[in-house]
Amino acid sequence: TDQLADLDPAVHQAIAAELERQQGTLEMIASENFAPLAVMQAQGSVLTNKYAEGYPGRRYYGGCEHVDVIEQLAIDRLTDLFGAKYANVQPHSGAQANAAAMAALLKPGDGILGLDLAHGGHLTHGMRLNFSGKLYDVAAYHVREDDHLVDMDEVERLAREHRPKLILAGWSAYTRQLDFAAFRRIADEVGAYLMVDMAHFAGLVAAGLHPSPVPHAHVVTSTTHKTLGGPRGGVILTNDEALAKKFNSSVFPGQQGGPLEHVIAGKAVSFKLAAEPEFHERQERTLAGAKILADRLLQPDSREAGINVVSGGTDVHLVLVDLRESELDGKQAEDRLHRVGITVNRNAVPFDPRPPMVSSGVRIGTPALATRGFDLDAFTEVADIISYALRPATDEDDLDELRGRVDALALRFPLYPDLTEAN
Ligand code: PLP
Repeated sequence: TDQLADLDPAVHQAIAAELERQQGTLEMIASENFAPLAVMQAQGSVLTNKYAEGYPGRRYYGGCEHVDVIEQLAIDRLTDLFGAKYANVQPHSGAQANAAAMAALLKPGDGILGLDLAHGGHLTHGMRLNFSGKLYDVAAYHVREDDHLVDMDEVERLAREHRPKLILAGWSAYTRQLDFAAFRRIADEVGAYLMVDMAHFAGLVAAGLHPSPVPHAHVVTSTTHKTLGGPRGGVILTNDEALAKKFNSSVFPGQQGGPLEHVIAGKAVSFKLAAEPEFHERQERTLAGAKILADRLLQPDSREAGINVVSGGTDVHLVLVDLRESELDGKQAEDRLHRVGITVNRNAVPFDPRPPMVSSGVRIGTPALATRGFDLDAFTEVADIISYALRPATDEDDLDELRGRVDALALRFPLYPDLTEAN
């Protein structure tokens, strides 16, 4: 960091401030995590200098003997981790992985069927302004109003009606598990491909704490930086050799040029770590923490304050707080939590009467705090802090007191202590 401080104090200063922010607040954005130092070390290496268009053993550039080793390690570890036959580890992000997978299977104008964005889907699953909404003919399924579960009857009905070429299962804001076998039955019935985007829950799948989509889907895509806890990036998995070839040529040369071998090295390291017992234990704490939070927000004192929980609980790493009955909207709730040092994002809840920029919900995830070492007591404390912060009656003095409790937790679970010493 000395070089950076000397050469570019402005960037150095902002990075130092961001480290302090991460250390001094509680990160509960459900899609975020803290990459291990070893992953960041791989990412910050000389690999950033290398062009390696192509794939291991089949490159369009010389000098690829070492990046070949690294990329092959990433592929082998990833396929082992998820029990898949083929993998592509080059997508620069989850969105790139989805774009490449879809481009391999579809022509512009083909039909896709995905979960509505307002009901927990992702932008790349057919949102109007996204490539997916522009290139493909989109139909969207929803969750049911009574239990907030994906309505498989509607999926089947829409599949028969629209005969999409691709059905997408996966989500960014959903708190239960999808029935991948049921999705596959419907896809087979209408002659569609099934693509599962496990970006959010990949870490849970790797730990064996969530059903795997790999045996059911024609293709599985993921990010590597959410529950999986690696560097920012995307991957594509399949068991079908012919499709694997299509995905490879769709990523390169279809969508991308040179792969980010420094990020791929970070991916390789994170896949190694994801096979360790410590990773499993961390995913267990992630799930337990989310359950503790959901339970706390369903206690009578919270319910009386207008707080509710979408789907009545959670089976994954996040809770969707439903504020439709609260005086506080999603934006105000996000600001309140920010004020006490807890970072979340506001999020529409299904059937949200408020506009998306305001919304009636917040999405709160536990992966980053689990990585930080939070135990069940600490999750109980943070759940209590959140339940008080979200009450309309909570005043500025109360918020100051809650901020103190957050500071105490942040001190109890130091983040990146080695980086602080290096500064
Ligand atoms: N797929 C899902 C389900 C996601 O939640 C996300 C990220 O929010 C993505 C894909 C996109 O990943 P990225 O932000 O790396 O492009």
